[in-house]
Amino acid sequence: MTSLGSTGIDAVGGGLQVVVATRNPHKVEELGRILAPLLPGVELLPDSGPEPVEDGDTFEANALIKARAAHERTGLPALADDSGIEVDALDGEPGIHSARYAGTRVDRDNLELLLTNLGDRADRGARFVCAAAWVDGDGETVVRGEWSGEIADAPRGAGGFGYDPIFLPHDAGGRAAAELSPEEKDALSHRRIAFTALAERIARG
Ligand code: IMP
Repeated sequence: MTSLGSTGIDAVGGGLQVVVATRNPHKVEELGRILAPLLPGVELLPDSGPEPVEDGDTFEANALIKARAAHERTGLPALADDSGIEVDALDGEPGIHSARYAGTRVDRDNLELLLTNLGDRADRGARFVCAAAWVDGDGETVVRGEWSGEIADAPRGAGGFGYDPIFLPHDAGGRAAAELSPEEKDALSHRRIAFTALAERIARG
């Protein structure tokens, strides 16, 4: 991995371009907000190339597949993430299948299926998971962030996306993730935890 520590600081100061393996501009913005103070001078570029087949069995494997594909195509250092929600009483499902759990990419269909499958089970423990990967000419690294909470009985709040309306983070004072401001969610989320750890590793080299 390229060191952005001792010797790498100059490269960062001069502006290091890093490709982010996502077509989602919101994710690029969110990562920009998280990484700017941690890796000053890094310029994040959204990747517009073809999406690789994500056929890994884990969040980590899929994040690495995306980062490798972006690095190999652009020659730039590449960042990628893979995320989802694991529900204890459903043996960790939907997990890596979170985006298409209900067979569509429609958030509302996915969270309603999750509520139906969980029914009135008392054990409602769950966690959002994010694997964050970095690949450059020198190697690759991947780290995991987890945000633990409970599944609500019914959707709440209008913010966020995906499963946010039914996720009650343990550190959000009883509110659903969809009831947090973007800044509050940024400060607590699985993506924040994973990318902070990744940035620290990259900065150390
Ligand atoms: P991907 O990592 O972009 O493939 O997203 C995986 C799926 O996990 C998303 O489509 C959402 O359904 C879910 N997910 C991941 N992160 C979050 C989050 O912060 N809030 C709500 N749902 C999420």
